Amino acid sequence: MQCKIINLEPITNDKEGRSPVQTTNDKFLSWYLENGRHDLPWRRTKDPYRIYLSEIMLQQTQVATVLERFYFPFLERFPTLRDVAEAEEEAVLKAWEGLGYYSRARNLHRTARLTGGRLSETAKELEKLPGIGRSTARAIACFAYGEALPILDANVRRILYRYYRRRQATERELWRMAQRLFDPEHAYEWNQGMMDLGATVCTPRAPRCEGCPLAESCRGRAHPERYPAPKKRAAPPLRRRRILLHQHEGAWAMQRSRERFHGGLWHFPQTEATVEGEHLGNLRQSYSHFTLEAEVWRVPSLPPGLSKEVTYHSPETIESAPLGGIDRKVFVVYIR
Ligand code: SF4
Repeated sequence: MQCKIINLEPITNDKEGRSPVQTTNDKFLSWYLENGRHDLPWRRTKDPYRIYLSEIMLQQTQVATVLERFYFPFLERFPTLRDVAEAEEEAVLKAWEGLGYYSRARNLHRTARLTGGRLSETAKELEKLPGIGRSTARAIACFAYGEALPILDANVRRILYRYYRRRQATERELWRMAQRLFDPEHAYEWNQGMMDLGATVCTPRAPRCEGCPLAESCRGRAHPERYPAPKKRAAPPLRRRRILLHQHEGAWAMQRSRERFHGGLWHFPQTEATVEGEHLGNLRQSYSHFTLEAEVWRVPSLPPGLSKEVTYHSPETIESAPLGGIDRKVFVVYIR
């Protein structure tokens, strides 16, 4: 297979004989020392588990949300990776409830068990673990163990597209660009600084190039909004379901999800078919790849196919079980 060559312009040194890479790196590191988000709790530790947990939580969730609602409660419940390994998957899912993208929690649990609570120390080994991609592996290896490798998270990608004035690039090209700009002498500061620059200066919608330490050598600076080319995203499909509340001797019918998306979570039985009973109201929940519009029905009996798949649980048990977003709403609005 033919590999594409990145179109990089030739490097010329400044009057003092320093290469643009050198001067850019100096400015960037000074910017990071002055403006970096040094107080983030996962930056004030070398504990691989705490760093790993932050990386996984931050894959799909904003820093503020992770900080305010999830990081510390999870650590309180599971202070070490060994504690995660010793817990049941359901307990880990419960601690993850509300954060979404539950495959992250299932993979965290699998990784904890596979490693016996002790993470591998190199990016190469970390990458073999469930749910740890190349960039996450490198971030953990760099921040916890000092391995000098560049990362490629969403913020870094955006900076690279703009810095090298690229509207499109393959993964291989992006990694090469990341490696080219990377400063291996200051790997920790470089990687943290790139994430901070993307989060605070080279932002998706309103980049502030005038305050950017990479501005002098950034090729996309004149029109940063052109890079990268916008992705064509279709509107997420709408799914319509009926959620069925069926009570028997004070307990409610529930199912444990086997589907990949919500695997391991508990939910109330659902159907697309019409049902007999009392229509209690409607709820809506957006997920990453679809929007769910649900009618909530109290039903005197369940359809035959569903009745074989449910078990009955008290409100107290449901309260402490891991539930998906819409089912938690149903529980809060109609049962609790
Ligand atoms: S100069 Fe502007 S476009 Fe270039 S990296 Fe900095 S903020 Fe982004």
